[in-house]
Amino acid sequence: MREHSNTGCDIAFRNAVIIDGTGAQRFSGDVAVKGDRIAAVGDLGGMVAAREVDCAGKVLAPGFIDVHTHDDNALLMRDAMAPKITQGVTTVVTGNCGISLAPITMKGPPVPPLDLLGGASEFRFSSFDAYIRALETDGTPVNAAPMVGHTTLRAAVMKNLDRPASDSEIAAMQELIRECVEAGAVGMSTGLFYPPAREAPAQEVSALLEALGGTGAVYTTHMRDEGDHVCDSLKESFDTAAGAGAPLIVSHHKCTGRDNFGRSRETLAMFDHACAHQPVSLDVYPYAASSTVLLDDYMRKAERIMITWSEPHPEISGRYLDDIAAEWGCEQAEAFQRLKPGGAIYFIMDEEDVRRILSYPHSMIGSDGLPHDRHPHPRLWGAFARVLGHYARDVGLFSLETALHKMTGLSAEKFGLKDRGVIRVGAFADLTLFDPASVIDRGTFEAPAQPAAGIEMVMVNGAVALDGGRITGARPGRALRRAA
Ligand SMILES: [Zn+2]
Repeated sequence: MREHSNTGCDIAFRNAVIIDGTGAQRFSGDVAVKGDRIAAVGDLGGMVAAREVDCAGKVLAPGFIDVHTHDDNALLMRDAMAPKITQGVTTVVTGNCGISLAPITMKGPPVPPLDLLGGASEFRFSSFDAYIRALETDGTPVNAAPMVGHTTLRAAVMKNLDRPASDSEIAAMQELIRECVEAGAVGMSTGLFYPPAREAPAQEVSALLEALGGTGAVYTTHMRDEGDHVCDSLKESFDTAAGAGAPLIVSHHKCTGRDNFGRSRETLAMFDHACAHQPVSLDVYPYAASSTVLLDDYMRKAERIMITWSEPHPEISGRYLDDIAAEWGCEQAEAFQRLKPGGAIYFIMDEEDVRRILSYPHSMIGSDGLPHDRHPHPRLWGAFARVLGHYARDVGLFSLETALHKMTGLSAEKFGLKDRGVIRVGAFADLTLFDPASVIDRGTFEAPAQPAAGIEMVMVNGAVALDGGRITGARPGRALRRAA
């Protein structure tokens, strides 16, 4: 550790446009960082700094919090977090959609969608504490706020996942949840839409949420249905969370399938109503196309499908299903089956719904990026830059202050991340410096792996993770254990 004088600091950001993440109006000023914290905000005058950063014309904001990720294993790898650092993300929430890397060990291949996180050898943590300690041993490129997934728990205690859990299996899962919360899990997620969790009735989820024990740990859910029965699923989610007293976060809220285009008017009205009675919020990614494993339900409803990976046909990544079927001389449905196991991008939403949900006051930005896909959905590399550059600046959907609040202050508040997501004295020095005139996502569906433009510097816990647009390779990230 270096010594600090009382008057000096490690880094001084000078003459920045400061947007503090609370939703408040921007102001001009300086920010000083000392150690891992923000030491001063305002006019720092002659304060001596080991490094000066001239921020004229640039926005200095809290580092972005990606509340919806599947980065459980990517955090442990050497270079897999580049898509996030390059767009200004300094914290990721893991374990979404019912799937977390821990606590489970596996012999055979993981059942989809657990395979989105890796192969059998990656599922190597028999306890949540062991996973968190692994994050801490090497350090991570960004901070991690880990959740435990319901599907992971089911796979850990049940032989067959195509039925409700028995009383003894529920008791075993409750025991595991208590260990996860003890170890610092920030919440529990479900993926009731997916086959390995679909047969779990609401009562099973309620019983598990009770094991969260009113700690404030959140419940996030990839709901049972985001299409024809989206309203029923919302009601189920509200009721389940309220019964257990857990704050609810509905994952990647959307209305899928042409018949449901426009129904976000109905669903957001339901959120308004629920908000009056219980803590409820949602996350959303800024695209009208979803992405996950190959699922028949989505295949039937999507307008068009691009294959992102296929185990039997790796050469097909990045191609459209209709082209593949034409080339193979078969129906799309048959080609789809032949490509399994694999993943796809599904063009399945209405742009107006996406905009309405993005604009909703209680919505946070989450990428839902899939870091191990051969040809990933562009949200992996671009979700945050797209909200800032496309939706806030170019479309004018909301102010930059609002856009940033949805990816910093609001997110930290909803997930209970203390002293994160805001610029103020004493908060952790997670900071992102960007050019508001040029920030934009560059990845496309055809060429998704493109770093965002306009992100100049990223700091995690006072250490520089991105400098002049270049990744430094530092691993200053911490596991953000939920305080007991
Ligand atoms: Zn999901």
